[in-house]
Amino acid sequence: MRNEPALWPSPSWHLTKFPPDNPVLYFAPEVLQATARRFIDGFEGLVTYAVKANDDESVLTNLAGAGVSAFDVASPLEMQKVRRVSPNAILHYHNPVRSDAEIAEAVGHGIASWSIDCLRELEKLADVPRSGTEIAVRLRLPVAGAAYDFGEKFGADPEQAVMLLQQACAMGFEPSLTFHPGTQCEEPEAWAVYIREAADVARRAGVSLRRLNVGGGFAAHRSGGVPNLEAVFARIWSETLRAFGDAPPALVCEPGRAMVAEAFTLAVRVKAVRNESIFLNDGIYGALMELRDIGVPDRISVIRKTGAPVGGAQCAKVVYGPTCDSLDRLPDVVALPEQISEGDFVLIRAMGAYSSSLSTRFNGYGLQEMVTVAGL
Ligand SMILES: *Cc1c(COP(=O)(O)O)cnc(C)c1O
Repeated sequence: MRNEPALWPSPSWHLTKFPPDNPVLYFAPEVLQATARRFIDGFEGLVTYAVKANDDESVLTNLAGAGVSAFDVASPLEMQKVRRVSPNAILHYHNPVRSDAEIAEAVGHGIASWSIDCLRELEKLADVPRSGTEIAVRLRLPVAGAAYDFGEKFGADPEQAVMLLQQACAMGFEPSLTFHPGTQCEEPEAWAVYIREAADVARRAGVSLRRLNVGGGFAAHRSGGVPNLEAVFARIWSETLRAFGDAPPALVCEPGRAMVAEAFTLAVRVKAVRNESIFLNDGIYGALMELRDIGVPDRISVIRKTGAPVGGAQCAKVVYGPTCDSLDRLPDVVALPEQISEGDFVLIRAMGAYSSSLSTRFNGYGLQEMVTVAGL
């Protein structure tokens, strides 16, 4: 998807020089590396990156370069992608539903951390080598605070989790607990509720946890204020000490969105303007797919192809994507300049997560180009 290795100063510099007719993701490696260091310095434990948020090779390379040594992978292809850029990286296989063939491939990659949420998935791991191998039981609670809830699909209730921890120990694995509060979670209390319950589950199971994995879910700056990651880190650590006392388990986190979102700006182009609606060259089958589920961010600016900003009064527009499918429209109206015109570029900030990884080629459209820039 990359076109050339050149480093452009900024998106508007590139857009005015080579006005692209297809959507472009602008990537600032500096921003990604700074975010990685913010996690590594601020989080009291091991930082792993959830590869599904953006599995581009240059993302993985820059994260490894910034000191991220462990990656949360969900499939054999993700394992291979990480191994290609970082042969010695630690891989955590935290997709709790696996086929036997996937398990065999993961063993081949030396995976020593697996999550499970039911007895059958633990039984499937019976032949996995034991020495130091961690089973992280995925806990599920009815907790609010995220853009959408992951507990609906995966996770064991506390009662089940007690049994699974004991069973994992009985099979000779190292017992850990893991959870995910749900993506784009803006509420530190969501982690706190899970941490208290995790301590209680461990106590009832009579096991001493090797690690507690507090998942991903950290918020990106989509709209409103800048998320205070450090406040979430501090809350996670203080709640862990309070809940577990003197001998807390080592902590692990697995951010996807918050690690990668801010390092990318998406540039899409206005193809047509019709009264109350506009047509863009990308939509919900492309890099904007996730907006259908979590809403439209408000860090949006518009420039002419000369680079001049389009300001002035704003109005609400219905935004359609380029395909012939009538579902291909953004869920809410979007506040855009009244003066927006055909050929303008719409720049959307913090679009690094769940954009390129979700973009399809439906109807011949979709994301095709990534350009590296010094700053966004
Ligand atoms: C998707 C996922 C993540 C990353 O979630 P974000 O909300 O992008 O931070 C982390 N862990 C697991 C198990 C996941 O499935």
